[in-house]
Order: sequence, then structure tokens, then C-alpha cells
Amino acid sequence: MMIYLFMCSAWLLTLAVVCAWKYPLFKRTWQELYFADTPVLIESDDWGPGEELHAQRLLELLACLETHKDSVARSAVLTADIVLSVPDIEKIMADPAKAYHRKVLNEGSPGIYQAMLRSIKQGVLVPQLHGLEHLNGQGFAKLCQQHDSRIMTALALPQQWDWESLDSPLQGHYVDGSCLPTQAISSEQAQTLIALATQTFTELFGFASFSTVAPCYLWNSTIEQHWKNHGISVIQTAGYRCDARDKHGAYHQDRYLLRAGDLSESAQVYLVRNVMYEPVDGNNNAKTAYQEALRAYAQALPISISTHRYNYTRSEDEFVSSLQGLDQLLTAIGSSLSRLRFVSSPELGQQYLMDDTDIVNNFNGRQWMPLKRLSGLKKLAPFLRRLYYRHPKLVLLAYISGLILPVSLLCRYSR
Ligand SMILES: [Zn+2]
Repeated sequence: MMIYLFMCSAWLLTLAVVCAWKYPLFKRTWQELYFADTPVLIESDDWGPGEELHAQRLLELLACLETHKDSVARSAVLTADIVLSVPDIEKIMADPAKAYHRKVLNEGSPGIYQAMLRSIKQGVLVPQLHGLEHLNGQGFAKLCQQHDSRIMTALALPQQWDWESLDSPLQGHYVDGSCLPTQAISSEQAQTLIALATQTFTELFGFASFSTVAPCYLWNSTIEQHWKNHGISVIQTAGYRCDARDKHGAYHQDRYLLRAGDLSESAQVYLVRNVMYEPVDGNNNAKTAYQEALRAYAQALPISISTHRYNYTRSEDEFVSSLQGLDQLLTAIGSSLSRLRFVSSPELGQQYLMDDTDIVNNFNGRQWMPLKRLSGLKKLAPFLRRLYYRHPKLVLLAYISGLILPVSLLCRYSR
């Protein structure tokens, strides 16, 4: 009996010391949003102009998503991060001034555009602005002018060329990567690009983009301010912000850690991708993605799946394998987790920004009830799990003090 009393006293004392020491961290974590209905997002970057084959692949991907339903019978929905245009290389080369020219999605790839419009109406695709293009126009035009070796394939076969074949530093949009380190575009250039991008997006899809994700995750506070000025209130991230690449091409982070629900300097809400399903890269697959989804669910966080276009637009074998894996992942999530809700990024962002508002798909007018949240003591287990997954030093202390035992029991018997 005495030994139990001693253990409890020691735990309570340790708890009191840790609470006093880490009070700001605990308070901040407790005040985060905890979901009772778990939002599931499928975020896919880079859809836009491309080979006609892409339209068929996109439709097959969406047909697969449509077979998966959530707790309110909504189909899985693809948040398609749209690249609105590609360079018009022949026009750039024919221009004596060698200015940048572009081919917009609906003109350059009408088949893909029409497939998107049908899918938007159907509700299985929600478009989100990725960028006016997936490169820096001025930097690209300069390389064309110089017949730079990095873009010789583009100059030789402009009709079949795809921007994904560019060197990675050349794929950034809000920085010029033609020379390293990259240079951020000026505020005036950003204003022009973002004004044209948001206007073009609205013209193509009938509604403004409320959310965005920067090409190559490269952007800064100036870009955020211009996004805000053009109605963008939600920023999809990978959990950090990069503003440049250094002289070796390495990414430079100016915000090391972003949590879902954090606010930018311009009061936009950040979302965070926490499940990687990019099987063509070979670093992850349906099994690893499922483990990441379980971890997000245990913390009452959104399950936000990142899966780029290239997983579905390359060889037939890669496409089939990627699609089967995604189907398996969604089946595993759907059969083992409860109260799931498929939503798009702008819809989830709106839920963070406003309490108790219906979910509205502004692109086809459909509505669903709001996502329910956890409150009071129901937050305790996911709160402890957030601390557990984020703060290894606290975990070590919990093991040394033995506090891990009561904390584990508490987590095991809740939710
Ligand atoms: Zn991209």
C-alpha cells in the first residue's frame, strides 16, 4: 500500500513540475482544434496542361475515389492543385523581345479542362490554385534566349515537353531558380502574377480559389500578403515554409514548424499534409501511409494525404500500381476508423476559420453539416498523443518517471 502511495505522490509531483515548466506549450497544444469527425483530404498537386492521356488517367482516379464513401455518404474528393498554364515556347522564341508567353489550360489542353469541369460538377474534384505556372516565367524566357542547356529538350520538342522534366530549382514559381541561390520575385511581380492567377482561376472554374499551395513549397510573407489581397485565406503546407534554395540547391526554411490551424502574418490559416502517398518516389506506399493516417486519427487531427499527379500520369504499370495502392489505403482507413468525413482543402480551412458553419463546396453548391469537434476532457487523450508524437524529451521524462504508465492507460481506454 505504502509503495503505491509513494508512486502516486512521485507522479503527481513530477506532473506538477512538468506542468509548471511546460505550461505555455501545454496551453497552446490544448487550445488547438481537435476533431470528433475526422476530416480526410486527398491533396494532389500539379494537375493542369499536359498530354491528352492525363484526362483519361484523371477520370480513372476519380472513378476510384467515387467508390469510397464517408459517414455522411459523401464520396472521396480530390483537391486538385491546379497549374493554370505552361510556357508557349514557340511564341517565346519567335518574340524579338523574348518576353514570356503562356498557354492557358483551357486553350492548350481542352480535353483535360473539360474532364475537370465535369468532375467538379459531379463533386469528386475540387480545384485549388497551385500557380499560374510551375516555373518562373522571366527566368524561363531568359534561359530560352540563352539557349541554355537545361532547357534544350524544351526547345527541341516544345509540343511534347513537360515542365516536370525541368531541373528541380527551375520548377519554383515565386522564386527565380535560373541561378542559385534562388532569388525571390519582387512584390510588384508577385502582385501581377497573383492577380492574373486568381482572375484566370475564377474564369476557368467559376469561383475564386479560397486556398492555395505554392509550387515546390517555396513562398514568403510577401506572397502571403498578395494572396490575402486576392481572397486566399487558407495555405496548404508540408508543415514548414521555405523561402529559397541556397547555392547548392538545398531548401532554406524560414518557418521550421507549422501546425494545422496556425495563422500566417496575414491571418491565413495553415493546413499540414501529414500522410505521404507518393509511391512512384519509392519512399512510401499504402502501408506506410496507413500508419501515418492512424497516427493522425489518434491525435484527432485531419488525415491529409499528399499524392502528386506524376504517380498517375507516367507508365501504365506505375499508374495501375499507384491507383491500386490508393484504393487499398482508402479501404483500410474506411474499414478501421469511424466518423470519417471527406473534405477538400478550402472546406477544411473554412472549418478552422469559423465555428459551426456548414461545409460548402462552392464549385457545385453542395452542402454538408459542419465537422464536429472534441471539447473538454474528451480532448485529453488526443492532447496527450500530440505531446507524445511531437516532443521526444517529454516522452523520455515520462519513461524515466514512470508517468508513461498512467498516461498510456488513459489513452488506451479512451476513444
Ligand atoms: Zn507542384
